Amino acid sequence: MPVLHNRISNEALKAQMLAETEPRTTVSFYKYFTITDPKATRDALYIAFSELKVFGRVYLAHEGINAQISVPESKVEALRAMLYGFDPALDGLRLNIALDDDGKSFWVLRMKVRERIVADGIDDPNFNAADVGEYLKAAEVNAMLDDPDAIFIDMRNHYEYEVGHFENALEIPADTFREQLPKAVEMMQEHKDKNIVMYCTGGIRCEKASAWMKHNGFNKVSHIEGGIIEYARRAREQGLPVRFVGKNFVFDERMGERISEDVIANCHQCGAPSDSHTNCLNDGCHLLFIQCPACAEKFEGCCSEACQTEHRLPEEEQRRLRAGRENGNKIFNKSRGRLNTKLGIPDPE
Ligand SMILES: [Zn+2]
Ligand SMILES: [Zn+2]
Repeated sequence: MPVLHNRISNEALKAQMLAETEPRTTVSFYKYFTITDPKATRDALYIAFSELKVFGRVYLAHEGINAQISVPESKVEALRAMLYGFDPALDGLRLNIALDDDGKSFWVLRMKVRERIVADGIDDPNFNAADVGEYLKAAEVNAMLDDPDAIFIDMRNHYEYEVGHFENALEIPADTFREQLPKAVEMMQEHKDKNIVMYCTGGIRCEKASAWMKHNGFNKVSHIEGGIIEYARRAREQGLPVRFVGKNFVFDERMGERISEDVIANCHQCGAPSDSHTNCLNDGCHLLFIQCPACAEKFEGCCSEACQTEHRLPEEEQRRLRAGRENGNKIFNKSRGRLNTKLGIPDPE
């Protein structure tokens, strides 16, 4: 019986990865397809991935697979061949290769079976996440943007929409993806005859949303293949006009990839044009908010004078103040005029 988990310490594994001489490529992919026995699929894939020296984070559920992994450069094509042959549903699967990544983010392979690959709050047993809408490629997206009968729906969170979105795209005002799903159905009731185009960062959320709209009786539903990331990459590659305005928020230290030169958001402190997200430097706060360079200097990277005062105190004093205080993932939500605590930030796509 093969060993399906790691027995070496985390530190030793990281040291092993760093000692590798061959560069690694970071690859991400997801696919909604029916997995009858996620546990068995997980074990079979674990063996196949281990043989290819894959590291990373993989989630499996009855509804499909979501993976962020790294693989030695020379094994990328073998990985592709393995996946394409693993299940007919994975044949032709799009593998997203990260271009600006050193491949050193993972040093262990973790594969987990979950209830869902994207939490949706749906409890209807008849919902089929694999029955997704039509895929739109970059040129088709641009054509839809010119179609008066098309409505673009942004399935991301407010802080993502705030710094960048497609022209005239609708925002679904809710704190989490699971709250957005019923709201989108409700908001589109009067537009049942329209072409509904859904999008998100990398496609995994909007693809499920498209299946949910279809499940709720909408017939003309499509979504952007590979999300904003793939749209921008393809449009640039093909010399098409890039019609996404502003920044695409991404979950890494850059906190956003500039797509167009337009700055469509404002500093949450002074209102000046700015689309630079940051986390408040006060360890007892870490609020995610938009801060212009002038305010960053004035408030020393903090979100308020109170945080600035606390941040200046000796570390021990700060720790005493933090003790027992609730500190979830705080996000400034201007559209709702309040702070949201404990927001579920989705997994990076
Ligand atoms: Zn400012
Ligand atoms: Zn703060």
